[in-house]
Amino acid sequence: MGGCRDRSARRCLGRGGEKGRLKEALAAEIVAKIDSLVGAPVEQWDFEAIEVAARREALRIACLAVARRFNADHSDHSGPALPCPCGAPARYAGRRPKTFTTALGDLKLERAYFHCDRCEAGFCPRDRALGLEGGSFSPHALRMIGIVGARVSFEEGHGLLHDLAGVDVPTKQVEREAERLGREIAEDERRVVEPDTEEPLPPTLSLGMDGTGIPMHKRALEGRAGKQEDGSSKTREVKLVTVWSAEGRDKEGVPVRDDGSITYSAAIESAASRDTDEEPSELARRVVREAARRRFAEAPRRVVLGDGAEWIWNIAGEQFPDAVQIVDRFHANEHLSAAAKAIYGPEGDLHKEWTHQRCTERKAGKVGDVLAALAVHSCCEGARACSEYIRRNRDRMRYGELHATGLCTSTAVVESGCKRAIGLRLKEGGMFWSVAGANAIIALRCCLLSRRFEDFWERRAAA
Ligand SMILES: [Zn+2]
Repeated sequence: MGGCRDRSARRCLGRGGEKGRLKEALAAEIVAKIDSLVGAPVEQWDFEAIEVAARREALRIACLAVARRFNADHSDHSGPALPCPCGAPARYAGRRPKTFTTALGDLKLERAYFHCDRCEAGFCPRDRALGLEGGSFSPHALRMIGIVGARVSFEEGHGLLHDLAGVDVPTKQVEREAERLGREIAEDERRVVEPDTEEPLPPTLSLGMDGTGIPMHKRALEGRAGKQEDGSSKTREVKLVTVWSAEGRDKEGVPVRDDGSITYSAAIESAASRDTDEEPSELARRVVREAARRRFAEAPRRVVLGDGAEWIWNIAGEQFPDAVQIVDRFHANEHLSAAAKAIYGPEGDLHKEWTHQRCTERKAGKVGDVLAALAVHSCCEGARACSEYIRRNRDRMRYGELHATGLCTSTAVVESGCKRAIGLRLKEGGMFWSVAGANAIIALRCCLLSRRFEDFWERRAAA
């Protein structure tokens, strides 16, 4: 997909004639500049210093050449007036300069400006045409900010942009622009649901749902109940949906997730839909969109995996009534371990021993034995809660049967998906989020990790 961009770049630059001569002149200028930079015999070069200086010069000259071409072209002054979105005419009011940060460096561009008296505001049609609207970054600079903002802290992103691309963007602006791009992507995700017909549909598709808490700013938590001792909360839950296939098998014949088959969609949003609501919850709609993209309903066999959380099984039951429901083994084990600690205390080895025995029984499909072992400790609240959990999800824990039919119950996929898509970026020490900021970065990150970034930019350029 990256090749498309390179092709279009070649197409634009490669048309002979005047542009061909410009290109040659540009190349000659760069070569002359670089010759003047390197005096010593090759053996004595400080090669890295030369690389850095040469790149800087090449970019500087390219930047000048692009600005020269851009500013000489006045075709955006198409007439004395243009219609303003409000309906009134916007009159041409001269050319306005603005400096944009681009992959080539800072570019001062002069664009035709049209002013609407009624709105007391104006616009530059060229900004819209070139994807410069609403900010001071070129599309490629914005894309680079998006890539770092999705993967590392804004501070680190600032450093990477400087070190790798030679582009200086203050940390605060990395944050602002990455979030702006993320909001655009989130909007695009809600609007565009194109079933992926390029990938062949596997015999079985798995859809997992999970929730994970991320640390929030105080003001994003006001009035929200939580698990802190004073009843307050420090986190909000991000709800994640993942879709993947696991046709491959490891040495023991256990299904393993197919490389490149996983996609993610997530947000801090409500899973609740009251009986009086006609519309499904925000989250249910997200799940439906992601399932549609992956053609989940068309897969010959469909599996929904989750922990015991009720919202997961509500959505699964309403949206995919024929799918096989599985409580992921990881979460089942976690519940057993929590019960063991409640019974024996978190110190010592007793709780580990007990958990191991219950997990072995569970693995062998002896759910009755697990329940009997829990019943012995029915005076312990943790044990009762675990019992209740197992009873409620018993049908979703028939692991022996499920394995025999080759289904993936190893849920490391959902769990590691949560960690990969959310935890690694949003739970780093010292980070605190607003709902809007977190949702923007989550949208950005899910788009990148699901290999949908390129499609987004293609739509954006075509809009
Ligand atoms: Zn107007």
